[in-house]
Amino acid sequence: MSLNPKILRVRSSRLAEVDLDNLIFGETFSDHMFSMRYEDGRWGSPEILPYGPVPLPPASIALHYAQTVFEGMKAYRGADGAIRLFRPKRNAARLRASCERLCIPPIDDRVFVDALKALIAVDADWVPALPGYALYIRPVVFSTEDHIEVRPSRRYRFIVVTAPVGRYFTSGGGGLSLKVEEHYTRSPAEGGLGASKAAANYAGTILSSEGARREGFDQVLWLDGRERRYVEEAGLMNVFLKIAGRTVTPPIGDSILPGVTRDSLIALLRDRGVPVEERRIAIDEVLAAARAGTLEEMFACGTAAVVAPIANLAYRSEAIAPREAVPGPLTGALYEELTGIQFGRTADPHGWTEIVETG
Ligand SMILES: *Cc1c(COP(=O)(O)O)cnc(C)c1O
Repeated sequence: MSLNPKILRVRSSRLAEVDLDNLIFGETFSDHMFSMRYEDGRWGSPEILPYGPVPLPPASIALHYAQTVFEGMKAYRGADGAIRLFRPKRNAARLRASCERLCIPPIDDRVFVDALKALIAVDADWVPALPGYALYIRPVVFSTEDHIEVRPSRRYRFIVVTAPVGRYFTSGGGGLSLKVEEHYTRSPAEGGLGASKAAANYAGTILSSEGARREGFDQVLWLDGRERRYVEEAGLMNVFLKIAGRTVTPPIGDSILPGVTRDSLIALLRDRGVPVEERRIAIDEVLAAARAGTLEEMFACGTAAVVAPIANLAYRSEAIAPREAVPGPLTGALYEELTGIQFGRTADPHGWTEIVETG
């Protein structure tokens, strides 16, 4: 490894105090974090430090103007004991694209992947071995300069923290119940930040998703920003539908996040000879298909949730449910196939996984 971060280890690990069987998603962090600073026009001084607070000046541009981007990935421990990353170069490229969109100096892809590997090697014992569990990885890049003017910062920090996680949706496995959001949008139709993993996107979703949760739904189904007509994403996940034997997903554009899981599922479907249509899907088309009995399956996908069946959509006074009991056969098969590759149970024909050397 070329990165050679300076390592400052914790005096004693917190791992023994962690109850892995009762993890709440994203609340428990491992012992260490990776840190790197951007100063004087360059990224440098990679370090692995004990997990802890990061000083931020009260007038920092990140805090006031959300010049912050992040990533979301996982490290998987296989039955063979090996720890694997899944398509980390895709996340590196997406982080670079997000940085460019927010005028943040990008981090070199190799440096990004080496940083993750170095951190996970130090905290290897935190990668759970329980089936379906993983070490969630959260890289974040933010401006640390204090300045009231809205302009690019001269100082940034890149931090990576990790969190052991169980399965994302624990509520019985009966599939997601989503409320179709017809008022708020996640992202404008064009020219916004919807295709970037920019912190600014997420604050705007909380009101909708909390409202939906209070009404008993798991999340919202987002429609497009211009007409509130076309299906975009399910909460913070990409979405697929199977209608009359055809598998469809909304096309990537300015307002849809290009998920690594989405891209991988399209590849796996094409491997099986199942064509995937990347096209706009009107909510009325979904409703009509449900009424006609041709809406076979719906599922959401993302790193955290993997492949999550959708059991129903609440749209105005209608309840839209797929024909197949959840998880439908395609949803279940894709979950098995994807996690099979991620956990090293099955062959990896696309060379998607990278082993973390733990020394
Ligand atoms: C991260 C994210 C996804 C899923 O991306 P993956 O790379 O598959 O984890 C989908 N939608 C939104 C809004 C996201 O932030």
